[in-house]
Order: sequence, then structure tokens, then C-alpha cells
Amino acid sequence: MNKVFLFDLLNTGSVSGNEAELEKKIYEYMQDKADRVTVDELGNVTAVINPDAPFKVLLAGHADEIGLMVTAVGNDGTLMVTNIGGIYTTTYPGHKVRIYTKNGIIYGAVANSREIAKNSELKAADLRIDIGAKDKADALQYVELGDTVTFDTDVRELQNGCISGRALDDRLGAFIVMEALAKAGEKGAAVGCYAVTTTGEETTGNGAYFTSSRVQPNIAIAVDVTYTSDNCGISEALTGDIALGKGPVICNNPSIHKKLNEKLRACAAKLGMQIQTEAANGRTGTDGDTMHRTGIGVPFALVSIPLRYMHNPDEVGSLADVQDCIDLLAEFFVSCTEDMDLRPF
Ligand SMILES: [Zn+2]
Repeated sequence: MNKVFLFDLLNTGSVSGNEAELEKKIYEYMQDKADRVTVDELGNVTAVINPDAPFKVLLAGHADEIGLMVTAVGNDGTLMVTNIGGIYTTTYPGHKVRIYTKNGIIYGAVANSREIAKNSELKAADLRIDIGAKDKADALQYVELGDTVTFDTDVRELQNGCISGRALDDRLGAFIVMEALAKAGEKGAAVGCYAVTTTGEETTGNGAYFTSSRVQPNIAIAVDVTYTSDNCGISEALTGDIALGKGPVICNNPSIHKKLNEKLRACAAKLGMQIQTEAANGRTGTDGDTMHRTGIGVPFALVSIPLRYMHNPDEVGSLADVQDCIDLLAEFFVSCTEDMDLRPF
């Protein structure tokens, strides 16, 4: 596994709608690993093996992360913000942040006090970011309204192959789909293999819509993170008995294709790989839902990476799970054939 590249991705800012810096790195990384690499108007990067094959399988991992966006500047020079995606507002006060401006990153400190710390109803509009500006005019020399913000944190290695960082959701998935594609190429996959790092999953789903509408795949697989039930009180009754380090997670829900799940299980069995099973009701809340409803309809499955503390600045994942997801999806690409019949009977 190319840990250096993975960690570079995880340390890059890619708030939903502002993913270009990260997508550019993926675009360059994939140049010698795919037959074709393209970028579209939204910044979605799609890498392809066997671009002329009529049967197409599309893997999607989203490149964007949750964060904040600057909405206004107070007379005192502090920045006001709104949320981009599903943040935990109470995680921000007392922490340093990065503001992604047209002139590069500047740093800020999120105001905190006893009163703020006691406010469990804190909203994004209550947050104030101190960039050291003297007043409003001074602040506006450095930032523009609409600039995006993340925690000022980088990925760290924990024990036993675990890593912690912000937005492993879903930059792990973005890494996995591209590495799986490269590996499928090496293993001699015969069908059209497509991997996309989508924009906008946390906010609009537009990246998956653009890509799936244009690729028109026969099959799609979303690769995203899922909650573990192994600590922090998340009930296994809600999603399934999911633990870190125990392998990729296959999802059962009304819209996920059962034959694709069977195929994923067969691939895991062939590799001697342990996999886990989760349940979702109705929608998966991933790019899978979007891809499913493009064109004439696209059968899809969801492969998830177990993740603790989702949408917090200290998400924890396992590098062993990341490697297993890569291996499973590469095998899936290789196992696909043009004559696959996905009708249930
Ligand atoms: Zn996600």
C-alpha cells in the first residue's frame, strides 16, 4: 500500500465543493496506472482500464469532506461560518482551523469560553474564528466569503495499524477505488473498469450523478465508510455488528442488489478474506443511491470501510481494512464478465 500517497490525501483540504487540490493529486497519481484518466467540469476524476469494453463496472469513492464555509466577517475581524455537511458543531470551539483561501492556507482559532463550552445547542452560526485580524477590513484582506474551513489536523498512526485523522470519510474510499482499479489492471480484468473520486457527496451528490450519467455503467459500487458498533455505544441493532479491523462491510438494504452482494462474498471467500454485514433501511446515504437512479437505472452494491467517530476530527480506521477493501474490489473487477445476468429469477 502506498501509505505516503494515502497520508498526503488525508492531509489535503477537500471540503465539499472545493475538492480540486485533492482531485488533482489523484489525477496525477493515476496517470501511469490506468488506460485513461479524465477530469470533468465538477472535478470528478475517473480512471479507466479497458475503455473500449462494452460492459462497464464503476466504483465510486467520494473525495470531499465535511467542514465549514465563511459566511460573514464581524466588525471585530472574526469570521462567521455555516456548516458544509453533517458536522458536530461542539467539536470546533477551542481548536485551530485551516482556512483555504485563493492565496493558500491561513490559520485560525475557534473561540471558546465557559459559556460556549456549556452550550450543547451550539449552532454553526454561533462559531467565531479568530485569524488575528485587527478588524473587518483587515480580515477581508486575507479571506473571502465562501472560503472553506477544516480542522488544523493531520493524520496520525495509532497502534496495531490504526490511523486517526479528519475525513477518513471518505478519502480512504477515494484511495481504495483507485488502488483497486490499478490492481485489477495488473490482474488482467477483462470488462471496462472505471473508478471515480466523486465531488459533493456530503452535500449534493452531484459528482456521482455527473459521472454515472456519463459512464452509463452496467454495475456500480459505492465505497464509503460505515459506523462500527465496537465502542462508543453505537448499537449493533441499528446497523449490524461491525468492528474495526475485521474486514470490508457488505450492506443489505432494499435497493442493494443481492446478486452483487453474493458476488462480493464469493470474491472474499476466494481470497480467504473475512467480511462483515450491515443493514440499512431504504437509502444508504451514499453515492450508491445517486448512481442507482441514473440513466435507465444502475444495479449497485455498497462496500464500506469500518470507521469509528465518523464526522469527528479524530476518525479512526484500520489500514488492514483499507488493504482488504482494495483486494476485494480488484477481485470483483476481475470476476465480472460481459454475460453477467443480474435478474433475480
Ligand atoms: Zn462518506
